[in-house]
Amino acid sequence: MASWQVGNVRVTQIIELSGAPVSPKFLFFDVTKEHVCRHGWLRPHYANDEGKLFMSIHAFVVESEGRRIVVDTCVGNDKPRTVPGWNRLQGPFLADLAAAGYPPESIDTVLCTHMHVDHVGWNTRWGEGTCVPTFVNARYLFARKEWEHFAGDRGEDGMGDVIGDSVRPIIDAGLADLVESDHQITGEVWLEATPGHTPGHVSVRIKSQGSEAVITGDVMHHPIQCSGPDLHTAFDLDPEQARRTRRAFLLRYGDRPVLVLGTHFAPPAAGWLLSAGEAWQLAANPLSKLG
Ligand SMILES: [Zn+2]
Repeated sequence: MASWQVGNVRVTQIIELSGAPVSPKFLFFDVTKEHVCRHGWLRPHYANDEGKLFMSIHAFVVESEGRRIVVDTCVGNDKPRTVPGWNRLQGPFLADLAAAGYPPESIDTVLCTHMHVDHVGWNTRWGEGTCVPTFVNARYLFARKEWEHFAGDRGEDGMGDVIGDSVRPIIDAGLADLVESDHQITGEVWLEATPGHTPGHVSVRIKSQGSEAVITGDVMHHPIQCSGPDLHTAFDLDPEQARRTRRAFLLRYGDRPVLVLGTHFAPPAAGWLLSAGEAWQLAANPLSKLG
């Protein structure tokens, strides 16, 4: 498992699903394979020679000031889902989490950047015919705005009853804290409002000992959006706001020594944003340029 040190903060990636490349049409309406191939910098990590895109679904475990924070909980096992590769998934996520040194009972905080199907799944697991909290010793942080939007959701987006099986049981168990979108989790870790993909979407900022990082959430789904900030996916609930938020994000972190950890970026999953013409690229090793 990949991990990064940001000052005193350690970030460890736990991958649930990655590997097979997908057609750009899976994410973007108007991106062709030829379009992907024009961005040579995406190869070999984020695209292949045929213009298909590599993606990943993973969690980041953030260790800060003695806290263990899981950021996003992926798809989860056993859940009825309409995406074929996600339906009643049987994956080793919890075993991998434990093998990385984080048994579920050791997690004290769970943060979902937003309430989509691939970010809340492991909040719960099936037990005795119902969904029960996976992280029994954790407080689950949800942005208040996000819950206000999704509280009445009954799976109308066709993904399955995501809220009913993976969020509401946490609320009902009294394990949820509804927080503001700039909530400070530790002295080194806090939330940053990045709405558009969903109304209460947040990113996660890290700053420690002069080192900085940011976990994107779904501000971007793929690094090709660094080159094309206006590319939006079918999953952005407010495409125009998502576009503004993405551009602001790229301006805020471009050409600065802030490690960008991509929530759906394929390995190496992280890099620095460097301006390139009128847009940006993600560089795995920018130290020579940034000094
Ligand atoms: Zn997502």
